[in-house]
Amino acid sequence: MYRSHTCGELNAGHIGNTVTLSGWVQKVRNKGFMIWVDLRDRYGLTQLIFDEERSSAELMDKAGKLAREFVIQVTGEVIEREAKNPNIPTGEIELLVQDFQILNSSKTPPFTIEDETDGGEDLRMKYRYLDIRRKPVQDKLMFRHQVGMKVRNYLSNAGFIEVETPYLIKSTPEGARDFVVPSRMNEGQFYALPQSPQTFKQLLMVGGMDKYFQIVKCFRDEDLRADRQPEFTQIDCEMAFVEQEDILNIFEGLTRHLLKEIRNVEVNEFPRLTYADAMRKYGNDKPDIRFGMEFAELDDVTKNKGFNVFDQQELVVGIAVPGAASFTRKEIDKLISWVKRPQIGATGLVWAKYNEDGSLKSSVDKFYSQEDLKAWAKASSAKPGGLILVMAGDADKTRSQLSALRMHLGNEMGLRKSDEFAPLWVVDFPLLEWDEETERFHAMHHPFTSPKKEDFALLETDPGKVRANAYDLVLNGNEIGGGSIRIHDKETQSQMFKYLGFTPEEAEEQFGFLMDAFQYGAPPHGGIAFGFDRLVAILGGQESIRDYIAFPKNNSGRDVMIDAPAKLDEQQLTDLHLQLKS
Ligand code: ASP
Repeated sequence: MYRSHTCGELNAGHIGNTVTLSGWVQKVRNKGFMIWVDLRDRYGLTQLIFDEERSSAELMDKAGKLAREFVIQVTGEVIEREAKNPNIPTGEIELLVQDFQILNSSKTPPFTIEDETDGGEDLRMKYRYLDIRRKPVQDKLMFRHQVGMKVRNYLSNAGFIEVETPYLIKSTPEGARDFVVPSRMNEGQFYALPQSPQTFKQLLMVGGMDKYFQIVKCFRDEDLRADRQPEFTQIDCEMAFVEQEDILNIFEGLTRHLLKEIRNVEVNEFPRLTYADAMRKYGNDKPDIRFGMEFAELDDVTKNKGFNVFDQQELVVGIAVPGAASFTRKEIDKLISWVKRPQIGATGLVWAKYNEDGSLKSSVDKFYSQEDLKAWAKASSAKPGGLILVMAGDADKTRSQLSALRMHLGNEMGLRKSDEFAPLWVVDFPLLEWDEETERFHAMHHPFTSPKKEDFALLETDPGKVRANAYDLVLNGNEIGGGSIRIHDKETQSQMFKYLGFTPEEAEEQFGFLMDAFQYGAPPHGGIAFGFDRLVAILGGQESIRDYIAFPKNNSGRDVMIDAPAKLDEQQLTDLHLQLKS
């Protein structure tokens, strides 16, 4: 028996007991006549004590050789501690060691394995197994486990069945590149790793499974943006005989359940915004609605007053920043430079302070009277003490620039509080999106998404205007879930492939299996997938998903611990019928 108790469980109630613990040496304090050792396992820390008066010389000697991260098994008597530590559950006791065994020694670890570490990100990732010994990391992995359990239980209780789908498949287009796996047994042929189980979950609906879910790995070979992982986890779901309303209700229920159970937060019915409104009000299809500052279109009150810069633009739009009339000239200049950075690309920023005394002062006083500026304040719902920030230009571009500024201010002013949760649905996404590069339409969600019935006719005349039965769940400025009602008949699906620029042969070759299935009584169906890593991070009150992944990849998609990706040897290449260009 390696242990009778864990390192996190002994307390005053155990005083006088003889116990056995196993764990890692976190710290040794050696005063010569007394030696203290902090022993760690996943459950906590227990202080061990060796002292000249009560321990044999031989034991003192052996203890003197202990060092950080040695693995030991120790037996001793639980005694009351003199200097109690109220910060840890085992702080009232210590273990007077009678004997111990070294189960394994350790090299000196490259960084300190404590709550606070001196190890930088790169070093910790290279030795991730040591990083995982740290309590904050273990806590996050356990938190992820908790969220996963709650999701499984909730969905299982709601009648969903978890079904595994294959990882070695054929390409499923979800807007990214596939990772591919060469087939040794089929020369020149490749599997693709799923970008999501999309087609399989639809086939499960054809198969009559009715309600499916899976907590599943997905793979997307995208250019990596900050905090994206090439492999990530989804809560993937699909239901038969449902309309959009049914799906929104079930998954609003799941989200509300998680917020309550995990964060003890109760939220009201989730607001719903159409995509068009989200873009108009926030310039963003995943708005953070925790901090107001809705967009105000100011064309009527700014144009034709002699200020050419505005007159010629498609859109003049602004936000009122509460309390920001007190910003200094320098602070405002900083915002102006911020929006002019190439990443944002704005040409400028006009401002108007709405002073506490009701007067207004703007950067364009030459062109606008007090009366005019009052109209700006009214249109943007600015209150005295507020600062109105205005941008102008091409409508789409300007909205997205102002959205970036709004989020920047939200961050800078501490308005994006990690313990506040504001979920919403964004609905009525466009079905198609014009791609400048390939000069054709792409499915905004994916090609299996059904168009809204009432927009069907537009497919021939104005495809960009067609709305989809597609929805996103947004939480605190993050898209945490997205899905759609699917097409479930062959006719419509083939037409959709046609609009997306597939020839009938290409459609048949790639998706023949799905269109075949649709000819054998496919039920109406729809679904959704949640980004599990992101959901866990937001529930945990953190920005970075990497913290919640046991073995994450770095920003260049590398696993620096196992050093992947890596070369294959000649024989493997030959077996796989692959030749590298020299
Ligand atoms: N497969 C979709 C995705 O990964 C989700 C869905 O439509 O259910 O985004």
